[in-house]
Amino acid sequence: MRCSMEKMDFHIHSDYSDDGSASLEDIVTEAIRWGLVAIGIVDHVRGDAAWLEEREARISGLRKKYADDIAIFSGIEVKVVDDQGTLEVEDRALHKADYVVASFHGTPEHVSRQSANGDHTAVVRWWCDSMLKLLEEGGRAQIIGHPDRVLNASRLTVDPEKFGQLLEMATKSRMFLEWNPVTTYPAQPFVQELGKKASANIIYASDAHTIGELADAYRGHTSFEEGMVERGNAALLALLKSRQATRLR
Ligand SMILES: [Zn+2]
Ligand SMILES: [Zn+2]
Repeated sequence: MRCSMEKMDFHIHSDYSDDGSASLEDIVTEAIRWGLVAIGIVDHVRGDAAWLEEREARISGLRKKYADDIAIFSGIEVKVVDDQGTLEVEDRALHKADYVVASFHGTPEHVSRQSANGDHTAVVRWWCDSMLKLLEEGGRAQIIGHPDRVLNASRLTVDPEKFGQLLEMATKSRMFLEWNPVTTYPAQPFVQELGKKASANIIYASDAHTIGELADAYRGHTSFEEGMVERGNAALLALLKSRQATRLR
């Protein structure tokens, strides 16, 4: 057990998300209570959102208020909409947060149609193609959110050759990949495999949507026993600090 490791969580939803219930300040004080040194408050955005500026102003206030206790970053979680890794986000939204999490949330229409017609490999093909693009180019995102949840949820498997190719790409990519041991089910084969490679940029992300889920993520330190996220967390923290300093200058 690596109790000396600094705890960070780069994916916590607030009540600005339609499926989140925690207030910004409750998230901050709960994170401090569990000894976290850095957090990212990440809310769902489609294209742009009218509340982003207000959220930024409030996060900025909390950043100052709790400056001695914790580093606070702001993020947006956006959907991958096709097999090219295209993200559903407008450029102007990017200036209202420190970083972007690209996530697979539901399948594009043509993939759903193919699946409905009995082609169960359509989802796997979509995921593999989009993952490759995101790992190669990243585009406007810095993080891939719960990378293989869409496969786990449907119990789909990727052929070993393609799986190996994706792992190889992930070790060379500038993208950070989330490990969500608390809220993602049942296992995360891709991220677990990637974790065995020394150069992997894996970060810890609870993807908590409530204060209860946030507490669950830290009770007993279970999420931090493997040290798999130590390197990625430190590298992402440095990147976010510089992005935030540039944005707020
Ligand atoms: Zn998500
Ligand atoms: Zn999320």
